[in-house]
Amino acid sequence: MSRDIVIITEQTEEKPVPHLHELAAAASVLRTHSGHRITLVIAGQASEEAARTLSGQYNFNTILIRQDMTHQDTALPFEILLRTLPAALLQHLDPAYILLPHNTQTLDAAPALAVKCRGACVTGVEKIFYQNNTICFHRSLFSDRITATIRPSADTTVLTIAAGAFKPEPESAGAPENPAFGKISVIEPEPYNPFYHQISLTDQADDTAALDQADVIVSAGNGIREQENLDLIFDLAKLFPKSAVAGSRPVCDRKWLQYARQVGVTGATVRPKLYIACGISGASQHITGMQDARFIVSINTDPHAAIFNVSDVCIVEDLTTFIPRFITTWHEKISDIPRHNKSS
Ligand SMILES: Cc1cc2nc3c(=O)[nH]c(=O)nc-3n(C[C@H](O)[C@H](O)[C@H](O)COP(=O)(O)OP(=O)(O)OC[C@H]3O[C@@H](n4cnc5c(N)ncnc54)[C@H](O)[C@@H]3O)c2cc1C
Repeated sequence: MSRDIVIITEQTEEKPVPHLHELAAAASVLRTHSGHRITLVIAGQASEEAARTLSGQYNFNTILIRQDMTHQDTALPFEILLRTLPAALLQHLDPAYILLPHNTQTLDAAPALAVKCRGACVTGVEKIFYQNNTICFHRSLFSDRITATIRPSADTTVLTIAAGAFKPEPESAGAPENPAFGKISVIEPEPYNPFYHQISLTDQADDTAALDQADVIVSAGNGIREQENLDLIFDLAKLFPKSAVAGSRPVCDRKWLQYARQVGVTGATVRPKLYIACGISGASQHITGMQDARFIVSINTDPHAAIFNVSDVCIVEDLTTFIPRFITTWHEKISDIPRHNKSS
């Protein structure tokens, strides 16, 4: 019996739908293995017209859940997921799988949604495949050192899809030959009083970051261990013209660098000519933001660090030893070498 693969996303009139192409690609893999139909659920303030455009793009049946988000600025608030969606989903659909993007909000919300739907939850899904007559999922554990294969046994499974794991499909992922596809239903749920009101937003923009302008990015990870060691990172960056300093999330969480400098799925996506990762393990959330750098050099004490899998040069060394020596050597021997091709 055909059931629903439900993609949940949010849309306002102005904002594009984040990650929808990737969710659609993951849903389409699930449909190939299960034969279920894909239904797009849009929560938010999108007009029917906007929903129709999206629906037409993919030829998915679409349910528009009109939800007042004026008190929110965040994407798909936790409350909407928990207060409105489960009832609406279960009343109108028969979800076998519910797909959400993998981000800080869904990390909390997805398991809660699974509980409401009496289902299972797999977060950070990187691969979907068919094995021994069942659909299985891959997700990374322990900073990408281990890949777990998971086979949910519940009737409904909530999945969060890791950014960058599924290549967006260029063509429509729906079934255009079926005239029943592309149908829009609008649900107006009961209004509710939110648990919280956002009072203001403070922009933490850091003008000095300019990661998108830099040719060379030197990036600090947890491996710097102490804030004082950031000086090494800045000193290394100074060797290169048009350079900038960035960091992994733990470094920004500790406020050693501003969030404008964070690289990764919840930070910036960068494509410099050279990316030097210093004491960064190579979690998928970080890799997503820097893997398109033209040349990647990594310094890490752990020879098995996942960052080495995407690096052109792997330096297995303590950064507090390597960087000062490199800087000294540079000043003594390299900085005098005439450069013939300055544009490269
Ligand atoms: C929803 C979500 C979103 C996220 N978004 C992001 C994001 O945008 N960006 C991001 O970076 N992370 C993000 N993360 C966090 C991510 O999962 C990792 O926890 C994080 O990237 C790890 O940072 P790290 O590599 O600096 O630290 P660690 O994983 O602690 O790695 C430190 C590395 O330094 C090495 N090391 C230790 N000492 C030295 C030394 N003296 N010299 C050289 N090497 C040394 C170690 O071997 C290790 O490999 C996110 C997580 C979640 C759940």
